[in-house]
Amino acid sequence: MAEQTKTWRIVAVRRLSKAHLEALSEVAEVDYFENVDESNRADFMAALSKAHGLIGGKLDLDEAMLAEASALQVVSTISVGYDHLPLKAINRRGILLCNTPDVLTETTADTAFALIMATQRRLVELANLVREGEWKTHIGREHFGVDVHGKTLGIVGAGRIGAAIARRGALGFEMPILYTAASSKPALERDLRAQRRDLDGLLAEADIVCLSVPYNDATHHLIDADALARMKPSAALVNVARGKVVDEPALIEALCCGRIRAAGLDVFAEEPLPADSPLATMDNVVTTPHIGSATHETREAMAQLAVDNLVGALTGSGPLNAVNEDVWRRTVAEAKGV
Ligand code: NAP
Repeated sequence: MAEQTKTWRIVAVRRLSKAHLEALSEVAEVDYFENVDESNRADFMAALSKAHGLIGGKLDLDEAMLAEASALQVVSTISVGYDHLPLKAINRRGILLCNTPDVLTETTADTAFALIMATQRRLVELANLVREGEWKTHIGREHFGVDVHGKTLGIVGAGRIGAAIARRGALGFEMPILYTAASSKPALERDLRAQRRDLDGLLAEADIVCLSVPYNDATHHLIDADALARMKPSAALVNVARGKVVDEPALIEALCCGRIRAAGLDVFAEEPLPADSPLATMDNVVTTPHIGSATHETREAMAQLAVDNLVGALTGSGPLNAVNEDVWRRTVAEAKGV
């Protein structure tokens, strides 16, 4: 693909700085869309139909749009998750998909731990008590929280982010670690004395169940009414994965009737969370607006990595993070006539 450098066209959508756009402009003509909505969708589609590369956060792309993007070779998402993208259609069309793992791992683990702390110690509920002028006497048992240190932390999906959450728990808070993953994690077992369980075993034993799996067909509603019923009534659920990993109505029911004690949620089945969702107002739920990776430093690093991925892929030096490596290799081989 290298010989065509400078003749590329790139469509960039949302959350790219001037410096990132300039870096893209060094190798391509760039059409930048601050946002895509009904008012500019036709312009966006016209640009996409000629584009070789597409980059952005929360890209809104479906199979019909891909069908019109006949020149498209690379999609570079500013996220590690790619469940919002039509992967099967992307693969079928031989398009390379790049994502931004690693650079957001520690920040997302920080978010998970913030939710663990807030949920166990009822931080938001009790901070609001002060804010609303309701702190009028010494607080009593009805406002006590639950310890974090020493509690058993169950990590559902001990990948990059799950392992980083486990490290915080084991090394910072002396928490015994249980985990599930598709494969065993000898380093976690050696370094943190983590123990692998099947999901049912983890749910039954953990005091805090933390979700960090990717969302796909296999993890859709992984935490449903049955799973919630297996948790300890004293346990809390923390979700920094994706909303649809959890059956939300079942979670609301479990929280309402005390089947589990509390939840800390960064992600939801529908985002933004509808204002009338019970999750927005329940005292035993801490909600954050999908801020897992949302720090200045990390969002900058993610955008930079997505730019590097796209430029590397188009100019032939290779993307740093290919989701569908096999598609990439096939595309390169075909371009070389191999
Ligand atoms: P990762 O390194 O691929 O980790 C995913 C882990 O899940 C792996 O350990 C994998 O097992 C395990 N897994 C996959 N399917 C499973 C299943 N059915 N049951 C149990 N475990 C399963 O990914 P990551 O970088 O940690 O990111 C994880 C997810 O977090 C992303 O996909 C994204 O959706 C979400 N995320 C959210 C935010 C946010 O803003 N809240 C930010 C970043 C990421 P193996 O290791 O054995 O393959």
